[in-house]
Amino acid sequence: MNTEQVDVLVIGAGPAGTVAASIVHQAGFKVKIVEKQLFPRFVIGESLLPRCMEALTEAGFVDAVKAQGFQEKAGAKFVKDGKICDYQFADQFTPGWNWTWQVPRADFDKTLADTVAQMGIPVHYETSVTNIVFNGTDSVTTVEDKDGNQSQISARFIIDGSGYGRVIPKLFNLDRPSTQVPRKALFVHTVDKKRSMADEPNRITIVVHQPGVWIWIIPFANGITSLGFVGNPEFFKQYEGTDEEILRELIASQPYFSERFADVEFAFAPRVLESWSATTSKFYGDGFVLTGNVTEFLDPIFSSGVTLATVSSQTAAHLVIRTLNGEQVDWDKEYMQHMMQGVNTFRSYVTAWYEGVLDTIFFADNQDPRTKSMICSVLAGYVWDLDNPYVKNHETALHKLARTITLRDIVAADKS
Ligand code: FAD
Repeated sequence: MNTEQVDVLVIGAGPAGTVAASIVHQAGFKVKIVEKQLFPRFVIGESLLPRCMEALTEAGFVDAVKAQGFQEKAGAKFVKDGKICDYQFADQFTPGWNWTWQVPRADFDKTLADTVAQMGIPVHYETSVTNIVFNGTDSVTTVEDKDGNQSQISARFIIDGSGYGRVIPKLFNLDRPSTQVPRKALFVHTVDKKRSMADEPNRITIVVHQPGVWIWIIPFANGITSLGFVGNPEFFKQYEGTDEEILRELIASQPYFSERFADVEFAFAPRVLESWSATTSKFYGDGFVLTGNVTEFLDPIFSSGVTLATVSSQTAAHLVIRTLNGEQVDWDKEYMQHMMQGVNTFRSYVTAWYEGVLDTIFFADNQDPRTKSMICSVLAGYVWDLDNPYVKNHETALHKLARTITLRDIVAADKS
């Protein structure tokens, strides 16, 4: 069997794989990417967060992405029963990027993959990892192309950015059940001809449909708008019919946008994703590191997926470079614990969202601007800034704030 020798094998050409590949390549190492599918390919995850711009910048991707003319995103809007909560990233507490993009992922991911290919990193499409054998930190990976031809790749290190493919966790039994409640999404791309009806037509908007059920509206620059309902699987069971019929019934039942999306053309048949939360027992091992969705994915509500994917890859790439240069790396402290700081901060916000605690905060009257700016930083993806009390005390701060707001409202109601 044909065997190729590289320093680093990257599995998957999504945002995680390409960011890691670019940074390791820039340090002078021989890198190769194997990707199961042919790009462009569909994947969900279309709203980015400003924090990912730091990783995209270091990877050398920003100019290529800018050239695509994607819809810029400067904040996020939450809507509930006619009330609006508006976050502008320019107001955030943590110094950093205050904008990013809303992207059709097929085009965005292809831009990243084409950029790494132009840098000189081979990207082998329609090539799947089928087996990996480790010998200490060295490894031999067997891959299979679409015609069934097998070959081997010897590597000094593997970066697994295979997303929902979960290559190394599956091969080495590292998958663990997620503690997140299972949820379901029903979504579509719409040909949004009545977009101008919206007060802010190009703005990403999250609509609270009912407790535990929410909707994303993500307009793209090409006139398509992504629209998805997310909730407990039980919520969807009360509706009958095909996915398209159910989605159209749900759209008609939401007064915030029923007119805009009435009879809207769907760019593809509605899709369903379920029980996406996943985690692994460890994010690294001898000769490999997991980055992106392979590590832990929680929930789409705060658009954290691509940010965690790119930041984990940025962090891991530097540790891989140091390892290959013969330096000691404390993978547990410098990678696993660091990433879990960010993941756990988002976890607290996801939990608070589904508990309704964030409804109390987001839709409160007379919000304190400084507190709002701190929460805004989390929504911008700056979940490693321990100077931000709403990061440092993420497990308690939101509940305390919601209680204060509720008490204040009770006192005000008593007085009136
Ligand atoms: P991916 O983008 O999935 O890339 C992994 C690549 O690995 C794929 O191209 C795959 O083909 C390849 N691969 C798999 N197996 C193999 C194999 N055996 N060999 C070779 N290659 C392989 N995130 C956001 O940031 N914003 C959002 O708005 C958002 N919305 C979401 C909505 C829903 C309903 C869900 C479920 C998720 C959402 N996400 C969102 C999360 C987002 O989809 C992921 O976090 C993101 O795509 C992770 O990027 P990645 O590079 O880790 O993986």
